[in-house]
Amino acid sequence: MMIVMKQTATEDDIRAVIDRIESVGARAHPSRGDEVTVIGAIGDLEHIARLELEGSAGVDRVVPILKPYKLASGQLKHGERTVLDIGGRKIGGEHFALIAGPCTVESRDQTLTTAHVVAQAGATMLRGGAYKPRTSPYAFQGLGQEGLRLLAEAKEQTGLPIVTELMDARDLEPVLEVADVVQIGARNMQNYALLSEVGRSGCPVLIKRGLSSTLEELLMAAEYVLKEGNEAVMLCERGIRTFETAYRFTLDLTAVPVLKELSQLPVVVDPNHAAGRRDLVEPLSLAAAAAGADGIIVEVHPDPEHAICDGPQQLRTDGFADYAARVRAAAAVAGKAAFVGA
Ligand code: PEP
Ligand code: MN
Repeated sequence: MMIVMKQTATEDDIRAVIDRIESVGARAHPSRGDEVTVIGAIGDLEHIARLELEGSAGVDRVVPILKPYKLASGQLKHGERTVLDIGGRKIGGEHFALIAGPCTVESRDQTLTTAHVVAQAGATMLRGGAYKPRTSPYAFQGLGQEGLRLLAEAKEQTGLPIVTELMDARDLEPVLEVADVVQIGARNMQNYALLSEVGRSGCPVLIKRGLSSTLEELLMAAEYVLKEGNEAVMLCERGIRTFETAYRFTLDLTAVPVLKELSQLPVVVDPNHAAGRRDLVEPLSLAAAAAGADGIIVEVHPDPEHAICDGPQQLRTDGFADYAARVRAAAAVAGKAAFVGA
């Protein structure tokens, strides 16, 4: 339910409504607009209805939130888009972010070389996996804590905020020491315990769409984080399974404007995992940026032929600066400006 307060409502009126919502075990999510405050009451509908909040002091009206993803629907946000500030770099609204780096943290040299190249090219943040979700249990699973240490070094040297994947809640603490954004991978999009844990941490989260997930399921995953009071959520389209076999996954670009219509949250596109092929990464990136994506998360490697993971799809560090400039130009077509590193 959404409780719309009157323009004349006092702080005491707002506090009283919040207290009553919480008294029945529901959560109150107040959102203060320029003119009025609205309070989201999320919990058992019958309990909330029994409060008869319509009659409370300062309450204008009570409106149901029809979407199952109550907080991700933006209904409580007065039409405002979520703009995240990650270490001084913004994403969402008018702000476009280019998140670049290797698929996997493999070595000190590979990580630092890539970090410096993408920083020089004006990337907004550095990506890199220390914990890797691999289809085969016999494949390299990531450097773990050593990988996190290398990401910390890359951040110290370049100033780039770090985006890195968390697969297991038991690794939350060390990951949070380094991550500015926690990535929840496609395979974990419906790991609700993990999503709740990251929600409680308060750290910004990038949630990748599951290989066979609908947009509603993606938004429900975001809801798990939001319901913990963590509003710093980005949604990521990374390609879905379809009948097409000519490339790895089908990048669903229609998801970009549709997610932005359904939700206030920033939408990021990952072209590499969708394409599975280096030569497709740039056209997909340009299309995504021009379609209004709030960011691109892209894999880059100094020597992709010898990459441990996802070699054929990673861009080369050589030529990355030109790619970045063209992506920024495409984002400008959609009316967005990219943060260009210092
Ligand atoms: C990745 O970003 O390296 C990754 C494994 O992505 P996804 O979860 O989308 O497959
Ligand atoms: Mn990868």
